[in-house]
Amino acid sequence: MTRSGKEYLARLSDGRRVMVNGEVVSDVAAHPAFAGAAESIARHYDHAHAAENRDVMTFPSPTTGEPVNRSFEVPRTAEDIATRSRALRRSAELSVGLLGRNPDHVASFFAGWAGRADVFARGGDRFAENIVRFHAMLRDEDLYAVYAIVPPQIDRSKPAHQQADPHLYAGVTREVDGGIHVSGAQMLATGGALADYILLSNIAPQRPGDEDQAISVAVAVGAPGLKIYSRRPYATAATSVFDYPLTTRFDETDALVVFDDVFVPWEQVFVYRDREICAAQWTETPAHVLGNHQAQVRLSTKMDFAVGLAHKIAESTGNLAAPPVRGALGELAAHAGVVSGLLAAQERNCEIDDEGIAWPGREECFAVMTLQSELYPKVMHMLRDLCGGGLIQLPSAAADFAHPEMAADLERYIGGPGETAVERVKLLKLAWDLVGSEFAGRHHQYEMFYVGAPFVVRQRMYGVYDFDRRRELVDRVLAGYDLDTALPGAAR
Ligand SMILES: Cc1cc2nc3c(=O)[nH]c(=O)nc-3n(C[C@H](O)[C@H](O)[C@H](O)COP(=O)(O)OP(=O)(O)OC[C@H]3O[C@@H](n4cnc5c(N)ncnc54)[C@H](O)[C@@H]3O)c2cc1C
Repeated sequence: MTRSGKEYLARLSDGRRVMVNGEVVSDVAAHPAFAGAAESIARHYDHAHAAENRDVMTFPSPTTGEPVNRSFEVPRTAEDIATRSRALRRSAELSVGLLGRNPDHVASFFAGWAGRADVFARGGDRFAENIVRFHAMLRDEDLYAVYAIVPPQIDRSKPAHQQADPHLYAGVTREVDGGIHVSGAQMLATGGALADYILLSNIAPQRPGDEDQAISVAVAVGAPGLKIYSRRPYATAATSVFDYPLTTRFDETDALVVFDDVFVPWEQVFVYRDREICAAQWTETPAHVLGNHQAQVRLSTKMDFAVGLAHKIAESTGNLAAPPVRGALGELAAHAGVVSGLLAAQERNCEIDDEGIAWPGREECFAVMTLQSELYPKVMHMLRDLCGGGLIQLPSAAADFAHPEMAADLERYIGGPGETAVERVKLLKLAWDLVGSEFAGRHHQYEMFYVGAPFVVRQRMYGVYDFDRRRELVDRVLAGYDLDTALPGAAR
């Protein structure tokens, strides 16, 4: 059954250890670095839990019949993908696409894995049973999983087993009664401080000898020995919600995860010391495309937000009537349209595999992954351009409006026709938090890298694209003439 935000927040008190600014935090919901994002995640749960949203946001659990979050549904038809899309967009709109790893993201991966448990069965039936049971447990208890699937940047010139210590990259160290022990580090669990579980696995190619790292396991965030090393939280530096409306509410934080001899029960092991299955879970199940379909619904929502913001700012500055400004807005809209159009095409061109599971169209999904590292910075650049120096002539803080002399000057020199100074400043501070703040800088890096380094993504696009179909067009044209082909009309 879906849970409420209150239930989500209550479960965060599980003894977790989040390392931040020189302190070890366990009560993240009460800590200023994480409280704003935790509240936003709680709102995400409340939204799906509300009776009026049930039709869109949930489906009946195949085991209990209770309403459960749509992101866990294993899609079997194009209509399932479209229905799922509607729910994902409603969810993304709650944070205007700024919570990159809201609970829908890794839930979508688990749906893809559970749908193709046969891939995990190659390592033994128990692993297939584990993935199906764990997915059902996450779904029916409405739990929040994130993942860390990339080795830390230590020495990328060598594989895992040739590092200075073969357990620097997180992997299994020993088997014990009832499970395994895991040690080492993995990057970069976005939302790790706020989640219930972290999925530890590897998406990067592995070499013979890397078997200890060729695993896929779920670890409770409160498990003894697990440490979440948060990057600098931006929310703690924010002066007010008015000054930093996005930072204060959506800084989900990212973390290096350290596994210090963490015990993982066998029931939470899905791939065990098998490089072939570790790779196949990404390529031979729909998990990767379902997870990225979700990520792109979110990106599309964020792009739409940027376009709306740009339009309002052009109106506010009085520039909207200028044809070049309208042209720039048109170009912005076109960039957003590329993403939303490719999402619609993913639904229309979904493929049903031999097991009857629907995969969003792969070519279109990888096309967005390939383009987004350039599209997003371009959209942010254009938004900056439309704002001009207005972003910088903003008063230092909301507190300035409480000082009568300052408030009077701000009203006179910053307010515009039909717009008070507070309204104008509010709009531009929102824009600054999207394009220029430290939070904004992290989002730039996020959109460039969350799906992998751009040079890797381009090669994956090469791998999924049906070049033969396009080469055939060239062959048809080439077959239509030769050395002795007469010029058109010459025979008449
Ligand atoms: C904000 C943010 C959030 C993230 N969240 C998550 C998360 O939730 N879970 C998760 O698992 N991961 C997450 N990641 C990590 C992400 O998956 C990795 O950043 C991504 O896979 C790229 O790996 P890397 O950072 O090690 O970059 P690298 O692979 O080191 O690449 C960096 C750059 O080095 C150059 N380069 C490196 N190797 C080559 C080569 N062989 N040929 C040519 N050029 C090369 C390229 O210019 C490349 O862009 C996140 C990353 C960011 C930035």
